[in-house]
Amino acid sequence: MVATNLENEYKKFEDLINSYLTVDQSEIVKKAYNFAENAHGDQIRLTGDRFITHPLATAYYLAELHLDYQTLSAGLLHDVVEDCDVTNEELSEIFGEDIAKLVYGVTKLTEVENVSEIKWEENTQTHSLAEAQTLRKMLMTVAEDVRVVLIKLSDRLHNMETVDPLPSERKVKFAKETMEIYAPLAHRLGMWEFKWRLEDLSFRILDPGMYKKVAKLINSKRKNRDQYIEKAVKLLADKLDDEGIKSEVKGRSKHLFSTYKKILAYEKENKTIDEINDLFAIRVVVQDVKDCYIALGSIHNLWPPLGGQFDDYIARPKDNMYRSIHTTVNGDNNFQIEIQIRTSEMDQYAEYGIAAHWKYKEGSSDDSTFDKKMIWLRQLLDWQREVPGDQEFVDSFKTDIFNDQVYVFTPNGDIKELPTGSTPLDFAYRIHTDIGHSCIGARVNEKLVPLNSVLKNGDKIFIVTSPSETGPSLDWLNPNLGYLVTASAKEKIRLWFRKSEKEENLKRGQFILDKELAKLDLGLKMKDIVSFTEYKNESDLLNNLGNGYFSINDLIRNVDIGKYADSDSIKLPVIDRHLDKVKVLGVGDLTTRLAKCCSPAQNYEIMGYITRNRGVTIHDKNCSNIENEKEIDRFIDVSWGLNETLYSVRIYVEAIDRVGLLKDITSLLSDQRINISGSLTENRDDHSYITLKIFIKNTIQLYSIINKLENINNVISVKRIN
Ligand code: MN
Repeated sequence: MVATNLENEYKKFEDLINSYLTVDQSEIVKKAYNFAENAHGDQIRLTGDRFITHPLATAYYLAELHLDYQTLSAGLLHDVVEDCDVTNEELSEIFGEDIAKLVYGVTKLTEVENVSEIKWEENTQTHSLAEAQTLRKMLMTVAEDVRVVLIKLSDRLHNMETVDPLPSERKVKFAKETMEIYAPLAHRLGMWEFKWRLEDLSFRILDPGMYKKVAKLINSKRKNRDQYIEKAVKLLADKLDDEGIKSEVKGRSKHLFSTYKKILAYEKENKTIDEINDLFAIRVVVQDVKDCYIALGSIHNLWPPLGGQFDDYIARPKDNMYRSIHTTVNGDNNFQIEIQIRTSEMDQYAEYGIAAHWKYKEGSSDDSTFDKKMIWLRQLLDWQREVPGDQEFVDSFKTDIFNDQVYVFTPNGDIKELPTGSTPLDFAYRIHTDIGHSCIGARVNEKLVPLNSVLKNGDKIFIVTSPSETGPSLDWLNPNLGYLVTASAKEKIRLWFRKSEKEENLKRGQFILDKELAKLDLGLKMKDIVSFTEYKNESDLLNNLGNGYFSINDLIRNVDIGKYADSDSIKLPVIDRHLDKVKVLGVGDLTTRLAKCCSPAQNYEIMGYITRNRGVTIHDKNCSNIENEKEIDRFIDVSWGLNETLYSVRIYVEAIDRVGLLKDITSLLSDQRINISGSLTENRDDHSYITLKIFIKNTIQLYSIINKLENINNVISVKRIN
């Protein structure tokens, strides 16, 4: 940064702090700047800028959050102990203990980081260990004084923005750490703006190709979307105006990494990007809480809510203090629009999270609610004591703590927080390990439910235990069955099995192997089975299968279903899955079809047309239907990819007959986007015997389908037949 530029930056900073700090406070911040500038002297960053530009930027981001003068001063001074010969005593003498303590905190965190870095480079195996240490330290610090972490986040944000001159290995390491620790931490502190910026900056380095593709994709859709949103915003603003509600209505921008994650999630469900509905998003900011609900009514008057539902995070705020009403409505032309309604204070919290606390601290008298909302922090520190190993700690951190949460109640009315998607079994393990191990049933809101049902906000849960039950079931670890989400519960189960006798594990392993492989009817010999795994011998394999450390899924992943499939398997032209082409076809979903009008042949140039309900149709580029089509935004570039094979297999379902059985089976298959090419049902003595001919892409998919079918009510057994 050249000198004049630095002057400008400083001027901007000065104006900003003068706008909300008192004169005395501003003076101290300026003194801190002068001290830092002097201490860093002519130190230069790799970017070629003077070093002082870095603490200045760090403090600027903090000032944007309207943080107090102590935090700003510490932001300016955050590298002087580390990089210059300044001691903490000195800082304390000049700036007082509060500021010196903040700087000390940041310096300590930086030390942990540096230790992690050495370990990281020494050996990738210790990567998680280093990560865990950094995390633990961060969390302790948050609990002590969250401002230290805010400074650290701001420091990291600027470092990521200026990361380019670093050698690429370090860049990647830096970006990874940002993605795995800092962005989730910002998320947990409710600082969305920081989170998005950190994520997008890391994404650009970790996957540059994909980053460009997503950027292009968003851009290509932007024009139509902007027009649509503009119209909707105007309509809504006028309506609210008519009803006398003062409001600000605006479209929301989309962030690259969050869009990318959405694309991945949709891909997993074999949906297309065109089904991503919240690309249309509007935010309504009103004056007070009462207006939020009036606005909600007006919106639902204008456009019907989807499924008649909305989420009220005003009545029940998220744990990171997020408050807002969310509703998804059916907008004009049947496009879904996601709408957030909130007051401007809530809006500030939503963008700046915990940092907004300082901005509103003076206004609101009730500091105890703030403390209450930080309950998760205390819980977090409790849990980390429970989790045994460092790897487990990192896992549980990622799934159990950083994900969005649901709030549920114990029979006594105590509130428990669990990651979204959790089940009654997760809840049981959260209450106590022994409750989990002896759990045999659950009642949610007075109704008996399966242990793998998904909990919703506000559910009241009663766990049924049996003292005679010998312990957990290995099925609970099978991901196809969806019993558990929390990593801590899974780890507790593995620990339980690890403690049991080897003899028992071997027996259990053999039992599972026989039972599960019979469903696939592969006719494998033991020595073939061992060769599909990394284990050296039968006993190691069975032991680990029996104690839950190895799963059947890992075994059958390596089995080539092609060897067992029927002869009428089909080869499908598969469309290139690149984002800038089309990312439509998940193999087997059959949502891409060749147009009948022109039946394009391989090697001809083709074009995709997005239909309303039937996925994408592939036309010859010169097809007359294409040339006459007016809705240009429904076209999508496609190209021929490799052929992919769908294997034809038959499965046999035995069940006790009931009304709706066949419908449940077929709708499960269609939810999984599995194509059924034939079925045959025989009924004998209250039993149904159903043979289904389906197309699948690999053994794992087949096995997962079998597991899911087995879980349907009244189904007795499911297996593949020859
Ligand atoms: Mn720094």
